[in-house]
Amino acid sequence: MSRAAVFRRDGWTCQLCGGPIDRAVKFPKSGSASLDHVVPLSHGVGTPGHVLSNCQAAHLGCNSSKGNKV
Ligand SMILES: [Zn+2]
Repeated sequence: MSRAAVFRRDGWTCQLCGGPIDRAVKFPKSGSASLDHVVPLSHGVGTPGHVLSNCQAAHLGCNSSKGNKV
């Protein structure tokens, strides 16, 4: 599981807002690339965890505004 594999699979498109992710934008700008967990890791026991199928590409800003919701 690598970040690059997730962004490649999702075509550098934010899976939360549908907008393109500019890989030149650096953390911690809200438009920078981040890895979102579809089921948050903080949900604990029984979550799929940090695997490719549970990760999606997202803007950092979209990701943090989503918070701990599924
Ligand atoms: Zn977004």
